Amino acid sequence: MAGRSIVIARALWAMAVALVASSPAYGFVCERAADASGNDTGASLAWFKRDLSYNVNVHGTAAAPDSATLSAAIEQAHLTWQELMSQLECGPASGLTDITFARGPDSASTLIGFDALHPDQNENLIIFYDVRCQAPTPAGTPCLPSSWPGPTTIALTTDTYNPLTGEIFDSDLELDGVDNAFALLPAYCPSNVSGTALLPECAFIDIQNTVTHETGHFLGLAHTTVPNSTMNASAQRGETSKRTLGCDDRDGLLFKYPAGQANGYCNPPASACGFCAPPGSSSTNITARVVGTDSDATGGCQASAAPRWAAWLVLLALVFSPSLCRCGRRAR
Ligand SMILES: [Zn+2]
Repeated sequence: MAGRSIVIARALWAMAVALVASSPAYGFVCERAADASGNDTGASLAWFKRDLSYNVNVHGTAAAPDSATLSAAIEQAHLTWQELMSQLECGPASGLTDITFARGPDSASTLIGFDALHPDQNENLIIFYDVRCQAPTPAGTPCLPSSWPGPTTIALTTDTYNPLTGEIFDSDLELDGVDNAFALLPAYCPSNVSGTALLPECAFIDIQNTVTHETGHFLGLAHTTVPNSTMNASAQRGETSKRTLGCDDRDGLLFKYPAGQANGYCNPPASACGFCAPPGSSSTNITARVVGTDSDATGGCQASAAPRWAAWLVLLALVFSPSLCRCGRRAR
């Protein structure tokens, strides 16, 4: 999965490569808060709780034959991270994670970003755009906005976080079904050396493959250069390999979210993965940012530090209490 070319995007990708090169112990790469110059040198982006939830927009997508099949694919994409299915292939694990995903009721919302005015009603939304936004699109119908990065972009994950501590408050996933042919593919689709699917039924972008990758962004992981990793930035039509985690994906999740312990990059600080702000630190704003822009071509990564939606601007003036900024704080 790849990105388009803007200056900030290239800066992020260069940083990601540097982090991998300077830290051979880790194949994974953490999303980090950007500094004033836009470089990702800040706190590691992570949830400070382990019981996570998501909601799928009620319209689903016409690319799926039925809602039950679509649900199964999306739910399995999350369970793959929760259950660390690749664990046995990777040798003994250093521990387990206690990350859990719960799917909430299907949602009529189309809001991308954190609903700070109603935080108790906030949803981590998964939404498919099957039509382009243009009059007279009925109100409430998911539609591809004119601000979408471009037709080769298949998905965007937007994380809203505290830039001082890295605590993620919200993660939303948008999928462009207007410009890209999504489908639920067979479990295995052979491809030739150029990556082209050999079977007609495989010449699509697999929904489960895509959502599994984007769930890594949801959890605060960035693109890695490790081949065959779920968080590798490259993908092809017909690809289903990202449905199964690579060892570096597993290591990244275990490192960030070790069971029964504070987030793993906090003590001792891990320079390759960012850091935690001191307990009691507070911040006067939050940031909404696209952390994953994925296309169906091979290439690098793109991210934008600028909000794409006017609604996000409303969120920037919020004041968070110190209790919200403690690293490793658990939801009860
Ligand atoms: Zn990505």
